[in-house]
Amino acid sequence: MPIAKRIALVAHDNMKPALLAWIETHQDRLRDQQLFATGTTGKLIASALEAPVHCFESGPLGGDQQIGALICEGGLDMMIFFWDPLEAQPHDPDVKALLRLAAVWNVPMACNEATADYLIQSPLFSEDYCPKAPDFSVYRARKVGA
Ligand code: PGA
Repeated sequence: MPIAKRIALVAHDNMKPALLAWIETHQDRLRDQQLFATGTTGKLIASALEAPVHCFESGPLGGDQQIGALICEGGLDMMIFFWDPLEAQPHDPDVKALLRLAAVWNVPMACNEATADYLIQSPLFSEDYCPKAPDFSVYRARKVGA
């Protein structure tokens, strides 16, 4: 039995129905994982799955940043983030920061249903797959200034 994957699930308001439908389709695989979410998304998921979800603050109130911090600490294996491409968000800078941190730390990330399908149906999903950790030693050791 592989170790439960730590998965963050986030959806902007217009995308919540699509994320909930996706979760329903994949509920058997998701129930065995450790789930994290922004506040409003998380409450909906917990009620749909009848499973525990660690709910952070609502996205616009800092939840995206909390998930970003989790990524930075090595605490997340995957992110499913259905962000809304057709509507500006009050917390657009936070959204951008979260997407950026997932890219920085090589966290598998799906921003639409098709990619989420690929992730959850990948053979790696059922294995103890550990993505290559980025090596930032050169960046950290760089000399700045005089
Ligand atoms: P919410 O936040 O789950 O609290 O709605 C989502 C987001 O906008 O990041």
